[in-house]
Amino acid sequence: MILSRCRSCGAPIWFARTITGRAIPIDREPAADGNVTMERQRSGDILATVHAGQSAAMLPAGTKRWRSHFASCPNADCHRKPRQLELLAPNAARDRSGDR
Ligand SMILES: [Zn+2]
Repeated sequence: MILSRCRSCGAPIWFARTITGRAIPIDREPAADGNVTMERQRSGDILATVHAGQSAAMLPAGTKRWRSHFASCPNADCHRKPRQLELLAPNAARDRSGDR
């Protein structure tokens, strides 16, 4: 788990890994209404679990939880589909018009 900063809003965030190996940004401070729990594994790694929908409400009382920074970032749109955005190279259209 790495302490980092959001590239779009500058907020301090953790990068934690889910069971599928995906790195997700999480707000640094725990939040009572969060739906992400973190658990230290025997290996020492922190495993983040996102509890989607109703399952967050079913966590035992007192469970420490965090909020995904995807949900709380004021620039959340920047986090959606970053790969696709990179594919839209800004000069791609210009190169094509130069062919003629
Ligand atoms: Zn942000």
